[in-house]
Amino acid sequence: MKKRIKVTFLGTAGGRVVTFRLIRRSGGFLIDFGSALFHVDPGPGAFVYLKEKGISYTSIDLIVLSHIHLDHSADLNTLIEACTDGGKRKGLGLVAPESALKGEDRVLLPYLIKRLSFVETLKEGKEISFKGIPVKAVMRHTHHGVETYGLSFAKDAIVYLTCARYERKMLEAYPKNPNLLIINTTFYRKRSHIDHLSVEEVKELIAHCRPNLTVLTHFSMEMLQEGPEKIARDLGRELSLEVVSAHDGMELEVPS
Ligand SMILES: [Zn+2]
Ligand SMILES: [Zn+2]
Repeated sequence: MKKRIKVTFLGTAGGRVVTFRLIRRSGGFLIDFGSALFHVDPGPGAFVYLKEKGISYTSIDLIVLSHIHLDHSADLNTLIEACTDGGKRKGLGLVAPESALKGEDRVLLPYLIKRLSFVETLKEGKEISFKGIPVKAVMRHTHHGVETYGLSFAKDAIVYLTCARYERKMLEAYPKNPNLLIINTTFYRKRSHIDHLSVEEVKELIAHCRPNLTVLTHFSMEMLQEGPEKIARDLGRELSLEVVSAHDGMELEVPS
């Protein structure tokens, strides 16, 4: 039987209003490869939502940050304490942009570095292997001047197109036919002064990459008003692709 990868969305909020008025939850998502559990972008509340879901902190092997913005990183330090059981459990890894670890905007508390057994920084095109699972920084995004990377896990089994300004080079940089594409679809209409994707741009990207399954997430207030379920359904119908919108707590499985 072919192995399955399980993905759990702790939160699906995007933008300041939905995240920080707690209209939807934040907290990122988990990827369970069976042999290792990754937590990607543990935003505010991740610590609580994991407990609520009955996911043991000490089952998490790797924390991955796409960028330092608070909606992606707020619970990083709390989780390092929780996942290492206050430093007693060895083996936790962190993969993040260098700006998360060094410099005045760093989000990792320096005294917690010693809790980590594995630390790697992301760079455009760089591939890291953790417990035999490849993690690749597909490309560096333009995103409000912050070092931000789109990510590919397990050789494009799962691709995460995080917050970004749309750029044509994405069409070439992102792999074709990933099993699952998670794409931060923050706006319905394009806002030229904000570095986030709109539905029209997401449509262009998925029409080009043709993932086996696309999950829209990271919704602004505008997206919630327009209805993410309907948007996903319409995109799927127009492009003859499977497209769904994420909701808080959603779980799904994809082939490895
Ligand atoms: Zn951001
Ligand atoms: Zn964001």
